[in-house]
Amino acid sequence: MPDSMPDYLRAVLTSRVYEVAIESPLTVASRLSRRIGHHVLLKREDLQPVFSFKLRGAYNKMASLTPAERAAGVLAVSAGNHAQGVALAARELGCRATIVMPSTTPSIKVDAVAAYGAEIILEGDGYDAAAAVGKRIAVERGLTFVHPYDDPAVIAGQGTVAMELLRQHAGRLDAVFIPVGGGGLAAGMAAYIKALRPEIKVIGVEPIDAACLDAALKAGEPVTLDQVGLFVDGVAVKRIGDHTFKVLKQHIDEMVLVNTDEICAAIKDVFDDTRVVLEPAGALALAGLKRYAEQLTHPGATLCAVASGANVNFDRLRHIAERAEIGEALEAVFGVAIPEQPGSFLGFCRALGPRSVTEFNYRYTPDASAQIYVGIALRRGAAERAEIAAQLSGAGYAVSDYTDNELAKLHVRHMVGGRAAINGRERVYRFEFPGAPRRAAALPRTDGHALEHHAVSLPQPRRRLWAGVRRHRGRRRQ
Ligand SMILES: *Cc1c(COP(=O)(O)O)cnc(C)c1O
Repeated sequence: MPDSMPDYLRAVLTSRVYEVAIESPLTVASRLSRRIGHHVLLKREDLQPVFSFKLRGAYNKMASLTPAERAAGVLAVSAGNHAQGVALAARELGCRATIVMPSTTPSIKVDAVAAYGAEIILEGDGYDAAAAVGKRIAVERGLTFVHPYDDPAVIAGQGTVAMELLRQHAGRLDAVFIPVGGGGLAAGMAAYIKALRPEIKVIGVEPIDAACLDAALKAGEPVTLDQVGLFVDGVAVKRIGDHTFKVLKQHIDEMVLVNTDEICAAIKDVFDDTRVVLEPAGALALAGLKRYAEQLTHPGATLCAVASGANVNFDRLRHIAERAEIGEALEAVFGVAIPEQPGSFLGFCRALGPRSVTEFNYRYTPDASAQIYVGIALRRGAAERAEIAAQLSGAGYAVSDYTDNELAKLHVRHMVGGRAAINGRERVYRFEFPGAPRRAAALPRTDGHALEHHAVSLPQPRRRLWAGVRRHRGRRRQ
């Protein structure tokens, strides 16, 4: 590692990226701005040719190689956006690229990289194993290793995002929010912004369960996390880079950590404003922006988030859509024990009062009580959760608030409605509200029984069902 820091301002200004990258638009998120009372800008890196900013750094690195190095070819290890960036950059530069991917990589991602003409090697169970193989192959074959973030040329290439941003927006800018994985994008942008407009706050955003920069800043040096959450796969990095950390510890003003629900909510916000679906890492910075904005005392700040990528698998959209509601504090999830006897469900509905139920699961237990899981729409945000819990326990129910519990939420989403043995065959029922259909195929079949699954559609539309409870109460009072 070099002792002196490279001159990143100069390196960014002299970067070669525009042979492959576009100057991405800076768009106003007008709906979101109106809602949160601040001026929200999005730097649209999702519109790059490979749907992420990664090709900037990859191209700048590869363009900086000597002709002999380029002729020998490059190697990268990645199952994601970096692989596509390197493969596209290599094609443009007429250079051979070898991409090592973990053997578990979905074929859709393998095919996307292969389409750019890269040679693909599937090796190793996860990223770490693939990286070890990749480094060995690079040495054996004399290929230049293109790091996804920890290389000054890569950092400088990513820094061109900030160069464009400051050119596109010369006016007031209070803070820029940048997603952090290994820190290449954040280091390049922070170095550039602080060199020219040091008054702009540069804020790094990480998922709570993959916060390697936050950990390093607290420890004063890079630390290796034992384990990182994989939901935000674009930033699931266990250790911040050495080059990137040098820049970041000097230039990052603040860190914001966000959870999965907040990220899903930010994906929805971007969809509402642009009709584009970002990947989780792509919406990470906006989720941080929203959390940060909540603690600002005055409205009217100008805040910019990098929308860093849009490589999302179609089959994850359902999960994201469901979690977005919780992230917006539009829904709470409770577990409640109710007596296993006729009329107890109606009693529970009365205790709940006139609220919209978004999800409902009933589980028979052999003892005297049944466990129900219920999703309830919130009208006034997170504070209302405590009120509902108090209301139910006041009515004598044992209540647990599962809104922040990952496992319980999966359970509610995918667990059964009820179970009964009919003619010696066990059957599982699930209740489905019209308008909120769930696939029976998502039900777990874990306990060794051959279960039959029956979706039971409740006859009433959900609002009418619960409005009925209110009418009932009204009549009683008369
Ligand atoms: C790689 C990536 C990041 C994180 O970038 P780093 O330079 O590793 O910090 C964020 N978002 C997307 C979409 C990415 O592909």
